[in-house]
Amino acid sequence: AYQGRLLELRGNIRVLCRLKPGSPGNLLNVNPGPGGTITANYRGRQRHFRLDRVFPPDATQEEVFRELEPAVLSCLQGYSVCIFTYGQTGTGKTYSMEGPPEDPGIAPRALQSLFREMGEQGGPAQPRVTVSMVEIYNEAVRDLLASGPPERLTVRQGPEGCGGIHVPGLTCWDVSDLRALHKMLNLGRRNRATAATHMNEHSSRSHALVTLTLTTAPPPHGPGTAGTLHLVDLAGSERVWKAVMTESSGRAGVRGRRLREAQTINRSLLALGGVMAALRARQPHVPFRDSQLTRLLQPALGPGATAVMLVQISPRPEDVGETVCSLKFAERVS
Ligand code: ADP
Ligand code: MG
Repeated sequence: AYQGRLLELRGNIRVLCRLKPGSPGNLLNVNPGPGGTITANYRGRQRHFRLDRVFPPDATQEEVFRELEPAVLSCLQGYSVCIFTYGQTGTGKTYSMEGPPEDPGIAPRALQSLFREMGEQGGPAQPRVTVSMVEIYNEAVRDLLASGPPERLTVRQGPEGCGGIHVPGLTCWDVSDLRALHKMLNLGRRNRATAATHMNEHSSRSHALVTLTLTTAPPPHGPGTAGTLHLVDLAGSERVWKAVMTESSGRAGVRGRRLREAQTINRSLLALGGVMAALRARQPHVPFRDSQLTRLLQPALGPGATAVMLVQISPRPEDVGETVCSLKFAERVS
């Protein structure tokens, strides 16, 4: 059923926007739907943005997932798919990606949908599923599914086989059913939380990546393809450097150090924007090597891959500056 939409999706970067519930006042003018637009009134100027789809504040988790399901299921055909949630802290990235237990988000729905689809195949045609989970904080990559304490990993170039990169020591678990998969993801979440002293600040400054690899049986039982699904809850996109610059720190040394920290925190986000803009413009050089996130995702973001960027924005008038920044990012990569 989803095959018809595959061609449409292949090689595409789709940029969607979801507005968090709340009243945007008169600073944001939102036209939801496919090809939706947002007009922001900021500093006396009107800025218009067009997206592949705009979800209104009352959009349900199900509506959001319905838009993504064809891309998710294309993994079973051997495609690479990356789904990102992007935006300022507090705008609903984790809500959209994970969701509360009573109203699950993209990740749990995607896994359920994949296993439902695979369940219909059964027998020797059943794909093999592996899962890995990492976190990137301050350009350090940590394995969240290691049996011991989370380990710091290095992303290396080549040898071929893993699409040009490999991550020595990265834990990949085989999961045969949905329950086993959820058990692993809960372990990853616990590992992420226990390693952090200030969980809220930590989670707003780090990227969390879940990767599923689906390998179908070789002929005659199956086509012998390997698809991947990356679900990425990105760090908050707020301009950390701005906060640092306006801090009343008189000492240049302190300010310099904080500024470098701020730059490191956002390096992966900047690099992701650069990579997606280069892919979209079909530039010969794609700067994958600029950050750990883009290095890790290099095999998944190559030509022919599908990426969906869900940009979350705030309705609050005081956030309109950040909202414009997020929409500019959306414009740059779409
Ligand atoms: P982020 O991950 O971007 O920092 P969260 O996902 O943690 O933001 O969302 C911040 C708060 O807003 C949470 O309490 C979350 O439950 C709530 N929230 C976000 N989006 C929605 C939504 N669409 N419907 C209801 N509550 C939401
Ligand atoms: Mg979050």
